[in-house]
This record gives sequence, C-alpha cells and structure tokens, in this order.
Amino acid sequence: MYQKVVSTAKQHGDEHQVCLLAVSKTKPADMIEQLYSAGHKDFGENYLQEALQKQEQLAHCHICWHFIGNIQRNKTKDIANHFSWVHTVDRDIIAERLSNQRDASLPALNVCIQVNIDDEDSKSGCSIGEVMPLVTKTQKYDNIQVRGLMVIPSKDNTDAFERTRQLFDNIKQQINPPHWDTLSMGMSNDFEQAIGQGATIIRVGSAIFGERN
Ligand SMILES: *Cc1c(COP(=O)(O)O)cnc(C)c1O
Repeated sequence: MYQKVVSTAKQHGDEHQVCLLAVSKTKPADMIEQLYSAGHKDFGENYLQEALQKQEQLAHCHICWHFIGNIQRNKTKDIANHFSWVHTVDRDIIAERLSNQRDASLPALNVCIQVNIDDEDSKSGCSIGEVMPLVTKTQKYDNIQVRGLMVIPSKDNTDAFERTRQLFDNIKQQINPPHWDTLSMGMSNDFEQAIGQGATIIRVGSAIFGERN
C-alpha cells in the first residue's frame, strides 16, 4: 500500500517535491514503527491524548510529528511542545498561544492556516476573507513560522484545490511571508488531484494503513 502511494505521488509530483504525511490516527504505535523502520519519518495525528501516548511509546524513533486535528484552546501547550508542525491553526488566539507556549529553545513551530475553502458549516478553518489578516498577525509571533495553507474540501469539490492554490499565490504576492512554501491538501481519495494543483504535503491515512474502524 505504502509503496503504491509513494510511487503515485512521485509520478504526479515530478515538478515539485511532495511530502507524504502518513496519517496514523486510531492506528497502533507498532504500525507506525514498522513504517518508520522502512524509512518513513513524517506522521500525522488528530487527537492529542492518543498522540502523546504514541510519542511516549516511540520515543526512541526520530519521528517528525504533525498535528492535524481540531485545536482546543486549553490544549495548546502540549500541542506547541510535542509537534514540529501544526496544520490546523484557524484563529489568532491559537497562533498566539502556540507561540507563547512553545519552548523558546526549540526550533520555531511550523504552522499552516486551515481555511474552510468551501464555506461549510460543519468544518473548522477560517473563512477565505480571514486568511490574509491572520497570516499577517502570525508573522509577529516569535516561536511559530507560518508556512502555508491547509484545506479539507467538501466531498463534491471540483475546484477547491485550484482555488486554494490561487489564494496561496495571492498571499505570496501581497504579503510574501519569509517561509511561505506549503500547501497541505489531498487525502487518500484525492491526493493525485491535489498534487496536480501544487500540494506540497499530502495527508494520507487509509490508503497506507487500511480503513479505520
Ligand atoms: C483522517 C485525516 C486524513 C487522512 O484521511 P484518509 O482519507 O484516511 O487518507 C487527512 N487529513 C485530516 C485532517 C484527517 O483528519
């Protein structure tokens, strides 16, 4: 499974580097370690308690952990200090807390702004109109580095990846943040289209680890 995802991603990603983030939520630590032993380094988790437990079990591995779940305000301290990346920042108070609570001796925390690109009631993420002001604000915070955008399009989306790419380019032109290089989009069912629109991180769970219960 894993090899198939990697080769498909490579095939489509000829023009740019694509990071395959292995989304391991609900899957046990030994499955993560298997993939890690085969050379894979980037893993994504959605639930903080579950992630912390696996991180403890896998403390002997040099894994790059990404947080991709919803962020509750009272959980920011652990998220700030136990991950290298956070993909789901969607409001200023969360960005500010992550920066204030990140241990200053660690490298800056990489963050993506999650955008509710299809304006769905059920989805987290800031609105399209809120993105630029939020990017500008996050630039003021010392211990986080804003890297780009993250989206989860609606199921019947046809052009959400393209619109996200345009938004990403607009921000580059108008604000030009110093490390603006990341488009986190595409999952098991649509990562090929996402890569076609310039995704630099695809987040793939079930196509690697099998269906979740
Ligand atoms: C679960 C999840 C994924 C992976 O989904 P699959 O369809 O299993 O590939 C990707 N991104 C986020 C934010 C998720 O919650």
